Amino acid sequence: MKAQILKALKENREQYISGEELSNHLGVSRTAVWKYIMALREDGYDIESSSRKGYRLVSSPEILSSEEIQAELSTRFFGKQIVYFDTVTSTNTIAKEIAAEGCQDGTVVIADQQTAGKGRLGRNWDSPPHTGIWMSIVLRPDIIPAQAPFITILAALAVARSLEQVTQVSPGIKWPNDIVLDKRKVCGILTEMSAEIERVNYIVVGIGINVNTDIEDFPAGLQKTAASVKMITGQAVDRKSLVVKILENFEEVYTGAKDMNVRSSLMDEYRKYSLTLGSKVKAVYQTQEIEGTAVEITDNGELIIETEDGVRQTIFSGEVSVRGIYGYV
Ligand code: ADP
Repeated sequence: MKAQILKALKENREQYISGEELSNHLGVSRTAVWKYIMALREDGYDIESSSRKGYRLVSSPEILSSEEIQAELSTRFFGKQIVYFDTVTSTNTIAKEIAAEGCQDGTVVIADQQTAGKGRLGRNWDSPPHTGIWMSIVLRPDIIPAQAPFITILAALAVARSLEQVTQVSPGIKWPNDIVLDKRKVCGILTEMSAEIERVNYIVVGIGINVNTDIEDFPAGLQKTAASVKMITGQAVDRKSLVVKILENFEEVYTGAKDMNVRSSLMDEYRKYSLTLGSKVKAVYQTQEIEGTAVEITDNGELIIETEDGVRQTIFSGEVSVRGIYGYV
């Protein structure tokens, strides 16, 4: 209800909306409306009230609460349920917990700060407060476990497209799912899953984006390889608009990719963003390395590397790190 009141206030930003109108429109008492307005004020919303005219939203806090996001979101099931935290260990960890308890498909866990953000293969993801988007989406696709890495590819496409739509940057994708600006990593995606041999129970797609981070906010070890959107454009970006766009685009590509023709055109779009295609790369498995030229990305998201002796090897994104031979990209 709080979200609906906020939505109504946002739609009438320029004018007052009376308590009576709100109460009729939403089917709750005027006292209830008043209580929700008080709760919104406690969350940091500046709402003017006049006994004659009603309520008017003056300003919103820069937070990523479920109300803020849902007031702008037009998705079918992504983000219909959003759980927001000021601070959390890792949004993926929480998302896995609530997924195991049966939360609905498309549920989003989002936090202003992570104290133990995770990267792939047990690595850390640096997630300071107020600057980034740290969110995880719970999905329940009807696929076999081997197809799960493809969802990560779609997430990367959705993030790249959204960055291009909301900001002035030209993102690239380092296969499979790092988003890169100016040869530096701006977003990482960590997909985890619970599955049986033939069936996926749930997938958690964790997306971490450095949005308004200043270079000195990064730990020394990351200052050469990481970037934020703000560092590239010189302008702070509204994190919420970006979250909304990502959820909308991700839902669209995730739903669309079930159709093989749509999938093929989505992968064409992915290939346009790819920084890996055509470059010399090294794929590192736990004990094995494959070096060569990245010659193809298939419609299922696999990378094909041609080694010096002309042999083509198919790389699946699961447990492999791909590095450019001449640096991170
Ligand atoms: P990889 O790029 O090695 O496949 P991940 O995508 O899981 O691995 O990201 C983890 C790595 O990303 C860390 O080991 C660290 O080098 C780097 N990293 C950690 N936090 C950030 C961040 N906020 N921005 C950019 N890079 C980061």
